[in-house]
Amino acid sequence: MDFSIAPQLSELKERVDHFVRDEVIAFENDPRWTAHGPTDELRQELNTRADAAGLLRIHVPQEYGGQGLSHLAKALLFEAAGYSILGPIALHCAAPDEGNIHLLQAIASDQQKQRYLAPLARAEIRSCFCMTEPSPGAGSDPSMLSTRAVADGNGWRISGTKWLITGGTGAGMAIIMARTGDGPGDATMFLTPLPHPAFKIERVLDTLDSSFTGGHAVIELDELRVSGEDVLGEVGKGFRYAQVRLAPARLTHCMRWLGAARRAHDIAARHARERQAFGKPLGEHEGVSFMLADNAMDLHMARLSIWHTAWLLDRGERASAESSMSKVFCSEAIFQVVDRSLQILGGTGLTRDTAVERIFREVRGFRIYDGPSEVHRWALGRRVVEGRL
Ligand SMILES: Cc1cc2nc3c(=O)[nH]c(=O)nc-3n(C[C@H](O)[C@H](O)[C@H](O)COP(=O)(O)OP(=O)(O)OC[C@H]3O[C@@H](n4cnc5c(N)ncnc54)[C@H](O)[C@@H]3O)c2cc1C
Repeated sequence: MDFSIAPQLSELKERVDHFVRDEVIAFENDPRWTAHGPTDELRQELNTRADAAGLLRIHVPQEYGGQGLSHLAKALLFEAAGYSILGPIALHCAAPDEGNIHLLQAIASDQQKQRYLAPLARAEIRSCFCMTEPSPGAGSDPSMLSTRAVADGNGWRISGTKWLITGGTGAGMAIIMARTGDGPGDATMFLTPLPHPAFKIERVLDTLDSSFTGGHAVIELDELRVSGEDVLGEVGKGFRYAQVRLAPARLTHCMRWLGAARRAHDIAARHARERQAFGKPLGEHEGVSFMLADNAMDLHMARLSIWHTAWLLDRGERASAESSMSKVFCSEAIFQVVDRSLQILGGTGLTRDTAVERIFREVRGFRIYDGPSEVHRWALGRRVVEGRL
């Protein structure tokens, strides 16, 4: 294992650090950051600034203007970007676009890359990934998928309801998972340009979090017609492709949220140094210093877990067990770090006078999306029982 950081990468990380601290954080009180995420206008303004700093879409393949970063390089840079929740949006490495770019790069045909991937990678459009459905449809259990695609001449007609679809409102394209047969694994991924009259936004959900442009939408697919050329990869391989997207996508979530947790910890540590109680700084009370120590340990272990899984992915391994373990560990450790940071801040922690209040609201969802902790534990436990882990 070699986690040494090349000087060029180290220099790039410093540039991201400076950009986020000097330019992005100033936008955190911008009224264009709404309950349903930063508006497209705010996102585009941040993208323009990142472009001027030479940092827009650095992770995408070189043919689309990026540097084609390794997973390990992403670990470093996405954590730096995540120091502000707006950082990944500015750099165009936020979910769901970043995962969708990865999936399209791996699976799409040349024609699909030109039509969908090129504008997405260049940050000219946003995208969404439509898998989850309201009960009794697919959630933790993807085999409950009920959206159906029926062959129609040289294309397909897709009908069903999707929900919790991040960025569905205002997206320029969608990747849709639909059932194309009666077997439990008979699912296919389809691409569609947006807006489309048969891709109906029913409503945007009011949620605890508010960091994703477009928020999370309920979408009615009303006989959405797509051509045969809009099948992503092969018919019937949708679940396989979902795995291609998921392992790296859940790891990049860990990277970005680790940056946010580090910010919360830094704010708490400063408070512990400056605020006095019972005749000395808070940080000199063991109860507080132990919380700071636990934070430091959780941040360190989360980072090591991310780096190790990234290193495996860079070697071409699927790393599905490792990415599951990283996802569970990071989402829970990050939540604990932010919770302790808020506690150290006392009443200040609940106010919007520091970024911690918002980070606390934002990180909670990560224990649910990209697979709830319990589902990962259940899958990992099964591997252990079967002697595969
Ligand atoms: C903020 C946010 C953004 C999202 N964005 C998207 C998106 O862009 N696209 C998309 O397709 N989906 C998205 N989702 C949906 C997300 O992927 C699902 O919420 C997740 O897969 C869980 O499905 P569910 O909500 O239907 O929960 P359910 O399947 O109803 O599960 C509820 C709970 O049951 C428990 N549980 C389930 N199975 C097991 C098991 N085997 N063992 C033990 N316990 C279990 C877990 O505690 C779980 O949290 C998003 C969700 C959130 C919260």
